[in-house]
Amino acid sequence: MPPSARSATETLAAGVRAGDRRALAKAITLVESTRADHQREAQRLLEVLLPNTGGAARVGVSGVPGVGKSTFIEAFGLYLLGLGKRVAVLAVDPSSAVSGGSILGDKTRMPRLAGAAEAFIRPSPSAGSFGGVTRRTREALLVCEAAGYDVVIVETVGVGQSEFAVASMVDFFLVLMLPGAGDELQGIKKGILELADALAINKADGDNLRRADEAAAQYRAALNLLHRGGTWEPPVLLVSALEARGMDVVWSVVEEHRRVFGASGELARKRRDQQQAWFWSMIRDGLERQFLAREDVVRLLPDMERAVADGTITPTEAARRLLAVLDDGAAPKSRRARTG
Ligand code: GDP
Repeated sequence: MPPSARSATETLAAGVRAGDRRALAKAITLVESTRADHQREAQRLLEVLLPNTGGAARVGVSGVPGVGKSTFIEAFGLYLLGLGKRVAVLAVDPSSAVSGGSILGDKTRMPRLAGAAEAFIRPSPSAGSFGGVTRRTREALLVCEAAGYDVVIVETVGVGQSEFAVASMVDFFLVLMLPGAGDELQGIKKGILELADALAINKADGDNLRRADEAAAQYRAALNLLHRGGTWEPPVLLVSALEARGMDVVWSVVEEHRRVFGASGELARKRRDQQQAWFWSMIRDGLERQFLAREDVVRLLPDMERAVADGTITPTEAARRLLAVLDDGAAPKSRRARTG
């Protein structure tokens, strides 16, 4: 690396560490860029910053559109600022990869938080694959930690794989729900209750109060049925983002979770596992990209796909034939692969 590039990286890293917002925004722009030279620079930067990461409470916030995510994050963020914390908000919007635009993490949705000096809000990275969006958000999270943010909130919608992606990058996953469980409970995606570290029934105010209580009771029963075991039973909380009520309870639950999981070593283990899973997903993504970019694969693939769909070949055999293109000039197999 030429000395000038090294010093530019060091300068940017120093700006990030000093909590300079312009440096932070520039660093995240670099991380989000799809340009190959930017990517190299971003990885250099992250390497320099890594020793300064890991210090934040990483909190995921999910829920269907209209549940009140932005209202909640603004109220929760302002509450945390009141405690003297610095708060960053990032977002994973699965639709942004397709549409190139994102409503999540939009500053205009959280005007008071966006205007605060101790808060930093970044919309979901757009363009590229969903995997690309999640990778960039993970890396932006690290940059925010290096910049000294105490709490990093990652917002997502209850759509597709986005909840799983966010749950796999945070310490604590909060799912917002609407009052009036009944039908809703039916519509809840399987798995979301397993991901949640806490449920918060939002809009528990005014005429909604009774239905919020009902919803809470139903979700508690549903969670009980799951019998997740382990050290943590996800609580079901009632909040009103609009009236900024219950923010203290949510934060005390996040802190309690950190205390319990920190003391037992589970938090460190969870983060290690997340790093490993991320590493392997990067390898899988890279392999798939390289594979699909091969000319011989591009030629064979449509026929194989059609044959599989028509039932004239088994998926196993079609995959074997496609993967066989890798045998030419392939690197020697490892000893383990050869003998095992
Ligand atoms: P998002 O799509 O999940 O981000 O939801 P928004 O935060 O945009 O909220 C959707 C609507 O619900 C807006 O009209 C909010 O004013 C309203 N809302 C959000 N939180 C509450 C709440 O705690 N109580 C009530 N009554 N309305 C709320």
